[in-house]
Formats: sequence, C-alpha cells, structure tokens
Amino acid sequence: MSEHNCIFCKIVKGEIPSRKIHEDDDFYAFHDIHPAAPVHALVIPKRHIETLSACGDADAPLLGKMMVLTARLAEQLGCAYTGGETGFRTAINVGPNGGQEVYHLHAHILGGPRPWSRME
Ligand code: ADP
Repeated sequence: MSEHNCIFCKIVKGEIPSRKIHEDDDFYAFHDIHPAAPVHALVIPKRHIETLSACGDADAPLLGKMMVLTARLAEQLGCAYTGGETGFRTAINVGPNGGQEVYHLHAHILGGPRPWSRME
C-alpha cells in the first residue's frame, strides 16, 4: 500500500480523525479505535514505512527512538512497570502471518488490568 491510500498517513495529516496521545517531528501516537485492552495505543513513524521487514540499518536510529518513545508513552498512560502489578505489552505485527492489517509500521501498547487477550 502506498502512502497515498494509507489510513495511518491520513491520520498523521489530520485527514482522518484520531485520539492523539503524542506528536513530534518523527512520530505520532494515538488510541486504537478497537481497543484490545483497557489501554491500547499505537505508535507510528510519520514517514511511511510499510512494515518492520522493510527496515534496514539506516532505520536503526528511528526504530530505537520508537522503542524508547513507546516506553515513555506507556508510562504516560499509567502502564509503566514500576515493580508492582503494572506493566504493558508492546507488539509489532509483521505481514499476514504476523497479523498485520495496516501496512504502515506501528507498535501496539497494551496495558491495564487483565484479563485482556485479543493480541495474544
Ligand atoms: P491487527 O488488527 O491484527 O492488530 P495491525 O497490527 O495491523 O493488525 O493493527 C492495526 C490496528 O489499527 C488495529 O488494532 C486497529 O484496531 C487499528 N486501527 C485501524 N484503523 C484505525 C483508526 N482509524 N484509528 C485508530 N486505530 C485504527
């Protein structure tokens, strides 16, 4: 899917509404429209990258920043692991066998009191 008909590119551009959590020069984060857990957010690079398998060494700095941002946003959403009954799950689905439905790289953040299971 090209960036021209990509729903997440449209979300970044404001052409499709979203419940924004965070935005900076490189990333955009928003609440998932069909939450699979009490907290379910998506972190995406603004640049259209179809999938993790399309990434190479040149993308390592961006992917590193994305992981750190994911942890910071989980904290902001009340899910950071602080030693007690806390924590979250992050997932990047890759291709059909990985369950990827939207072909714009995204990291899921799932958290909140269990049980929740759709993503497992
Ligand atoms: P899966 O549906 O198997 O989780 P992905 O990993 O590709 O597949 O995740 C795409 C996610 O994007 C889904 O959790 C879906 O609910 C979410 N989503 C799709 N459209 C929107 C939208 N307009 N706003 C927010 N989230 C969306």
